[in-house]
Amino acid sequence: MLKKIKDLAVSHGEEIVALRHHFHTHPEVAWEEVETTKKIVDILEKLGYTIVKKGFGGTECGVVADLKGGKPGGCVALRADIDALPLQEENDVPYASKKPCVMHACGHDAHAAMLLGTAMVLAKIRDEIPGTVRLLFQPAEESGLKAGAKAMVEEGALEGVDSIGGLHCWSLAPTGTVLYRSGPIMAAADGWYLTIKGKGGHGSAPENAIDPTITAANLVLNLQAIVGREVSAKETVVISTGVMKAGETVFNIIPDSVTMNGTVRSFNPAVQDTVEAAMRRVIAGLCAAGRCEFSLDYKRFIPATINDHEVTMTAKAVCEDILGAENVKESELVMGSEDYSYFEQKVPGTYFFLGTANPDKGTNTAHHHPKFNVDDDALPAGSAILAGFAWARLTKNG
Ligand SMILES: [Zn+2]
Ligand SMILES: [Zn+2]
Repeated sequence: MLKKIKDLAVSHGEEIVALRHHFHTHPEVAWEEVETTKKIVDILEKLGYTIVKKGFGGTECGVVADLKGGKPGGCVALRADIDALPLQEENDVPYASKKPCVMHACGHDAHAAMLLGTAMVLAKIRDEIPGTVRLLFQPAEESGLKAGAKAMVEEGALEGVDSIGGLHCWSLAPTGTVLYRSGPIMAAADGWYLTIKGKGGHGSAPENAIDPTITAANLVLNLQAIVGREVSAKETVVISTGVMKAGETVFNIIPDSVTMNGTVRSFNPAVQDTVEAAMRRVIAGLCAAGRCEFSLDYKRFIPATINDHEVTMTAKAVCEDILGAENVKESELVMGSEDYSYFEQKVPGTYFFLGTANPDKGTNTAHHHPKFNVDDDALPAGSAILAGFAWARLTKNG
């Protein structure tokens, strides 16, 4: 069946690429993917899919659709995110974005097109499918706190689903390859927002002021001691200070307060708990020592993406069959984050990277760069892999 799936995906190659170009020309940012959703719904309805729910998070964005196979069985979900980024495109291609300062610079146009290609393939083998394939076209992967995946899970998108698969195109790996990983693959992303309040005064008389810059300086260093001294060397964690503001331009004024923001990245929820607790303790202690008051807002934006071993092995076997074993390799841990993690908190799943880098075409530029682009030649294999994964899961459960 995988051979048939692959051939079907190749036969739909031109349509898949045309869809990618359409989405690329008409990008919509997080929670504004109304026209993108309409286009997807239109195609799915024509293919005979049942629209389970359209619109999430109080918007018209995102859709869940089912294909009920000809035989009884379980339910497997496949996910594609569909949002673009607020960025001015710098690619000179015929299908470049027509919207100023909106661009598909992460490849979610390719994700939507590939999953529609998968939908076409599965529709053709529908009678043979033992169970239901659920397609999740997810809005707002790039939105931070209001994550599209979280909204979809809360609004029942995974009800009745046994397992889930999803991929991200990857400009760091060559076209024709896949990077998989069992266990953690992408980091949890936390943000911290701190104000240290001292007492301003004349720069010549610090004894009459409470200088918050001393506490801030101590804190920058002591936060790194949490990484080095409180977390096992076998774990992976990063604490970064991204913003630090004190005073204005005047040289002889001790500022009243310092604001600091930063991020914490981790893979193990227990480590995440340790770091947050340690940060709260160290901040409180250093502020007390420096006679400063403080307010801290620590936000857990996105959990770590933790792949299920068995489901990952299903995807690995399918990728090896479609791309050749030599083209399927284990991924490193990636310090970026993905709201796909919310799906994997709910059901066992896997998330992997589909290589789209082709230096001759310039598709090896970093994600989120104004010149980011996807190698269209990678798309039919992506559609085949997702369809093959669904087939493999359902035949296993049946
Ligand atoms: Zn992305
Ligand atoms: Zn992105």
